[in-house]
Amino acid sequence: MASSSPDQANASSLAGRLEMVRARIARACRAAGRAPDEVVLTAVTKTQPPEAIDAILAAGQRVFGENRVQEAQGRWKGRCAIPGLELRLIGPLQTNKAADAVALFDVIETLDRPRLADALAAAAAKAGKPLQLLVQVNTGAEPQKAGVLPEDVDALIVHARSLGLTVEGLMCIPPAGAAPDSHFALLGEIARRNGLKVLSMGMSGDYETAIGLGATHVRVGSALFGERNTPQTPSMD
Ligand SMILES: *Cc1c(COP(=O)(O)O)cnc(C)c1O
Repeated sequence: MASSSPDQANASSLAGRLEMVRARIARACRAAGRAPDEVVLTAVTKTQPPEAIDAILAAGQRVFGENRVQEAQGRWKGRCAIPGLELRLIGPLQTNKAADAVALFDVIETLDRPRLADALAAAAAKAGKPLQLLVQVNTGAEPQKAGVLPEDVDALIVHARSLGLTVEGLMCIPPAGAAPDSHFALLGEIARRNGLKVLSMGMSGDYETAIGLGATHVRVGSALFGERNTPQTPSMD
């Protein structure tokens, strides 16, 4: 491979891996005939220690995904003044945590039931804070997985809009071990028929595929920080 390949970037440092992921996003955009700035990289920081957060902020990353409200509060409450910071909730949300989630997050990607829409509308009104929402779709209809079933998405969007909420797009997590392409395509179809522009899809293993199928936001964790819950944490510089 030529030495200019993004794959040759310094993969032993967090900054090097960030550069590599950004280069791959740009390459996938070009291959799909899209502009690289059409796709936002959400760095998934769940379980990461403060040193890793410091390192990725120093490398210029500003958009982050977290899957638990309380854990995210611990990691980000002291850093909320960082200019340009955008926090996105990408994990399931209980209605009794709606107010905490609205207070901390700029975007909630996991609206998946009418009662949660009710709780978020009430919390957003009380906080006087505009809320950006995505609806999580359980594209594989997996019983254990969060997300609204594909056949119920349109009604949930209508309900959310009736409460004055703005739904900007959709999010999905395809079934593990299956080819994600048909799930990404389905998400795109549901978005189009509902007039939605934002598609949060694609993780470390499949973000290039997702970009080819229209992703506007890719959620990448382990490709940046290394595998989670392994004794050998990659060096953070
Ligand atoms: C953890 C997580 C990711 C990141 O997964 P990686 O495979 O580590 O990139 C993306 N989306 C959601 C919803 C997650 O919980």
